Amino acid sequence: MRMKKMLCGLLVAVLVFAMAPMAAFAAGELWVNGVDILTADSYTVQCGEGTAVYDPDNAILTLTNATLNQANRASRVIDVPSSIGELTIRLVGDNTIENHSEGIMAFCPLTIDGQGTLTITTGTVAGLISSGDMVIDGATVTVTTTNDGAIQANGANLTLQNGATLKGTGKYYGVNAQQVSVTGKSTLITAGTEELYNAILANTSLIAEDSTITGTSDGVAILSFGPITLTDSTVTATSTSSYGMWSVDLLSIAGHSTVTTQGENVGMDGNSGVQISAPSDGYVEILVGDDAESAQPSASSPVGPGQNVSVTDMGNYSYAKVAPHTHELTYVPAVDPTPAKPGNIEYWYCEGCGTYFADAEGAQEITEADTYLAPEGTADIPGSNEGQVGGGDWDWPSSSGGSTSGSGSGTTTGGKENPSTGDSSLMAGIALLAAASVGGILLSKKRK
Ligand SMILES: [Zn+2]
Repeated sequence: MRMKKMLCGLLVAVLVFAMAPMAAFAAGELWVNGVDILTADSYTVQCGEGTAVYDPDNAILTLTNATLNQANRASRVIDVPSSIGELTIRLVGDNTIENHSEGIMAFCPLTIDGQGTLTITTGTVAGLISSGDMVIDGATVTVTTTNDGAIQANGANLTLQNGATLKGTGKYYGVNAQQVSVTGKSTLITAGTEELYNAILANTSLIAEDSTITGTSDGVAILSFGPITLTDSTVTATSTSSYGMWSVDLLSIAGHSTVTTQGENVGMDGNSGVQISAPSDGYVEILVGDDAESAQPSASSPVGPGQNVSVTDMGNYSYAKVAPHTHELTYVPAVDPTPAKPGNIEYWYCEGCGTYFADAEGAQEITEADTYLAPEGTADIPGSNEGQVGGGDWDWPSSSGGSTSGSGSGTTTGGKENPSTGDSSLMAGIALLAAASVGGILLSKKRK
């Protein structure tokens, strides 16, 4: 049902685009603000207080504080035929394009660069379209279209790089491209304003690396018909009637990413699952629920440093957030053992992820067993209850365990997630046996 509604919306968007005038102007024309700039003196067209200047040798059109509001006969303000080959629009200062119909139509690959800004406002046709690959390179571009999608790389890829900022708000989509790549500290902010439509529609894949993506719409906010791969990025997707973010393939979230999704009944999901990979230097938590307020850690949370998990039940939750986990440490003072009762070393515990630490900074991870001090005179108690320990989610002390059990053997290696067997000392073995003997008690405490 949801799929049907969503696809219905998609189909309409495609039809609308197909009906838009597609014919390029004859080769040898490059229309800018109502003038064929190839015929203009010094390849320069006045644009309000500013200018548009074309460099035919390098195919660079430089806009300097330009205000463009004159369309050509095809109702386009900038109309680039395929004969140009490949165009770069370079932005200097603040530039604007306004038209009731179309803004920029490039029938070739298009790059927009420069330190300036470009704000495009259009009505019945998308503000920014290319039929070749579109690259926003460090520039700041804002497109608002009231009666069509906003930004489209038609049958081609859209790439943001080098700190680019691209904002797209359109009726049927904010952004529509084959592959959408947002890289190098770039920002993509999108919205689809019509019921059941999308903010981002990636027909082959969506990639974010060290960047930010925001999508808001009524239909699936961020939709990819292929994989979605998010690395070290901040992604926020909000849908009022459908999924927040949906990959028809695999949804992967890696590194130091914060991904927050809210849908009507599914926050995020992938048809081939959701794979979450923690960075080597930190934990990742997975919060799921109806909304941000009620969300709780999922069964797969937290994901430890360097680990990755496949989450298969994301589709059960209308809210899902994957984010770096920050430990909230509770101090537990040392208790000396007596002949009758065991004691413990001082330690710090994070209830959110169930991890023990030897220090207040949470730098040195230890196991629960490491905190245990056997009753006086019973340190070498034989392992009389082996068989009970393995049944639970007990983590056997790693090689670092022996060094932090209070006996001070001083061989901490920090290799927590990869227990090695080569350096087990006699001391570690004894601590392990002692821990095993009370494993049942510790487990029941932990599960309380
Ligand atoms: Zn924690």
